[in-house]
Amino acid sequence: MTDITKLTIAESLDGLKNKQFSATDLTKAYLQAMEDNRSLNAYVLETPEMALKQATEAEKHYASGTNRALEGIPLGIKDLFCTKDVRTTACSHILDNFIPQYESTVTANLFNDGAVCLGKLNLDEFAMGSSTENSFFGPTINPWQRERKLVPGGSSGGSSAAVAANICAAATGTDTGGSIRQPAAFCGVTGIKPTYGRCSRYGVIAFASSLDQPGPIAKDVKDCAILLKSMAGYDVKDATSINKEVPDFVAVLGQSIKGLRIGVPAEYRPQGLNEEMAGYWDKGIEMLRQAGAEIVNISLPHTKYALPIYYIIAPAEVSSNLARYDGVRYGLRVDGNSLDEMYINTRSAGFGKEVKRRIMIGTYVLSAGYYDAYYRKAQKIRRLIRNDFLEAFKQCDVILTPTTPTVAFPIGDKSMLENPINMWLNDVFTVSVNLAGLPAMSLPIGLSADGLPLGLQLIGRAFDEETIFKTAAVLEKEAKFERLK
Ligand code: GLN
Repeated sequence: MTDITKLTIAESLDGLKNKQFSATDLTKAYLQAMEDNRSLNAYVLETPEMALKQATEAEKHYASGTNRALEGIPLGIKDLFCTKDVRTTACSHILDNFIPQYESTVTANLFNDGAVCLGKLNLDEFAMGSSTENSFFGPTINPWQRERKLVPGGSSGGSSAAVAANICAAATGTDTGGSIRQPAAFCGVTGIKPTYGRCSRYGVIAFASSLDQPGPIAKDVKDCAILLKSMAGYDVKDATSINKEVPDFVAVLGQSIKGLRIGVPAEYRPQGLNEEMAGYWDKGIEMLRQAGAEIVNISLPHTKYALPIYYIIAPAEVSSNLARYDGVRYGLRVDGNSLDEMYINTRSAGFGKEVKRRIMIGTYVLSAGYYDAYYRKAQKIRRLIRNDFLEAFKQCDVILTPTTPTVAFPIGDKSMLENPINMWLNDVFTVSVNLAGLPAMSLPIGLSADGLPLGLQLIGRAFDEETIFKTAAVLEKEAKFERLK
């Protein structure tokens, strides 16, 4: 039998239904692969006992014909999702040994559909970063060209590396400014950030609440469609989740895109854009044209403000959301001679450098005297960015852009201490979508001359993930990208 860890979810479900292998076989194969790949540092916690128990449960469902949508499919969970009775840390020292008493809605949805939990995956502390180097547990290594020790992207770098290395069938991710799409692009896998409100944020440790959105990272477009269907849906426990029916995303795959209007924004082709990236973007445009789509040149004039305002709005929300880590209720506590001293000691020891930087920026932009100059102004520009998209979507149905300006870079290459801007520039093509609340996918389009994956991004109208999926399926078919085997 071929190595079953290389199968997609769709293929694994077929194999399970046809009794080619059992749910326990599949889970064991992944557990072995995890052990063989510990040098990647993708998992920060492995949960083999839980996995085997769930696999046994799945076998019962198959035997009785009551198998659910993801019965027996082994998943990795980003360690930002609270998992009941399973350590959840956000890869921060401040959440040392935190064991949640409840399950996030998204992971509950997945497990209620029969998914198996292999463990918790590495990320940048509190999802702040683009390389997974900001993790308390150390960086994850990109499985492409391992000897070069490249970053997997971030913040969902454990997720993207694990999917690429076939040490989970698929993984959960979260995306505040690009954290699903950029790591997916760096690791040659597929990820979608759904429309804000499509998936519940309940039980997902908060970074910037007006931007955060959970979504899947998977081996291909179809697997993303299968997973998103399961993850999404209205949740009374998240006031920003939307009460809208979740479409069958798989059903649109393979549909014609004849006459579909593809927007190509001029602002995403800045001077000096990596030539290979630009070349693949042009190839992608051509593939869609050949498939009968109409290419429309569009403008998103406020794009240049997206990154600067993201780095005002996101830290502002960080300074508020992270105030709760005070050493009193959970996680780390470092004692002091007074309550204030205990707060200071705990937060000084518990947070990493990037998180502290964001708390300080956020506190500054929200403080009296600066609120109007920074925070309020940023919010106004955020509206202009959203308006740009609303205007653009009068002329087109979906937008095609590069996901990242470059391929994966070596660990340690972009020092956050010397110049955080170099790292932040990774997000130029991804943050606008979060500011506007729109859905967007990254899928691999090809390899650079030195053999590293590059991704293209498809951006859709709010709650129109279906057009993204339909278009992505065409690109995927044409690109014939080969995953790591
Ligand atoms: N890289 C971006 C940041 O550092 C986005 C992170 C994310 O989407 N969670 O904020």
